[in-house]
Amino acid sequence: MSSEEPTVPIVCTDCETETRVPLSDVADALSRHNEGTHDGEEVAEVAPGLKDRLADLVADDLGLLDGE
Ligand SMILES: [Zn+2]
Repeated sequence: MSSEEPTVPIVCTDCETETRVPLSDVADALSRHNEGTHDGEEVAEVAPGLKDRLADLVADDLGLLDGE
């Protein structure tokens, strides 16, 4: 029910950058960076260790975890 969108850190080991982007923009930001900077190679990705939590966040967002 939060109106504030969670942000997710995406990291690029090649550029040594970490950027926080809104959850809904993660896929876009990743493809934009990888397309624009790395010729479409999937270098940038969601920060390691966050992928599981990201799944939780998304599930939570969709209300799939109701009943806990
Ligand atoms: Zn990069």
